[in-house]
Amino acid sequence: MPKCDHAPADPGRRDFLTRTTVLAAGAAAAATLQITPVKAALEGGQKKFMEEAAKLATESVEKGWGGPFGAVIVKDGEIIGRGQNRVLLTGCPIYHAEVTAIIDASAKLNPKGLLGSDYYAGTILEMIPRPAGSPDVVTERAKMLKGCDLYVNGAPCPMCMSAIYWARIDRLFFGGSLEDTTKIGFSDEFQYDDFKLPWDQRKGIAVAPGFEREVGLTAYTAWTNKKDRHYY
Ligand SMILES: [Zn+2]
Repeated sequence: MPKCDHAPADPGRRDFLTRTTVLAAGAAAAATLQITPVKAALEGGQKKFMEEAAKLATESVEKGWGGPFGAVIVKDGEIIGRGQNRVLLTGCPIYHAEVTAIIDASAKLNPKGLLGSDYYAGTILEMIPRPAGSPDVVTERAKMLKGCDLYVNGAPCPMCMSAIYWARIDRLFFGGSLEDTTKIGFSDEFQYDDFKLPWDQRKGIAVAPGFEREVGLTAYTAWTNKKDRHYY
């Protein structure tokens, strides 16, 4: 069984985790165990990791693999995942640096991920309890990449930002701003703006919310009826 104890190595980090718990307790809208960053928690970011992210990004540009984006995931001071944009190489529009870094790190942390395991009944993933006072509706969730930092040379697009949330990464360090990314011709900033609009006012896509809802919810019922479901 993997250890779930990732005790912070420095006082600032310890303080961050404590404050995270407190903030989560007061965040009525937080349905999941989200991290609320505080400035002190971001101390200790290391330039060498950003340099590695930028190196991956530049390689992608020079080889024609994709946009100028690279990412690394760091755990306990070591890089455990690397990703670079390879949209042009693969033709896959979601082949973004942060997503692939998360996939890379997850494979490293869960080497039996595709094989099955008896770590926990029905899942290979380590489950951790919700913090005391958290408004989370479930008692435990898979640990995912909690305890890790992500460095990326430019601001994450909304997809990658969501992926980072799903991964439960503790801290995000990014270099270039959304405005910087807009200037070189990418639409990340537009997407963030579009997401703020009601479904029927989106400019980027036509959306039909509630379409055949009862059909869609049959899978929800299957999930609810499954006795050994694992939240993540
Ligand atoms: Zn992205």
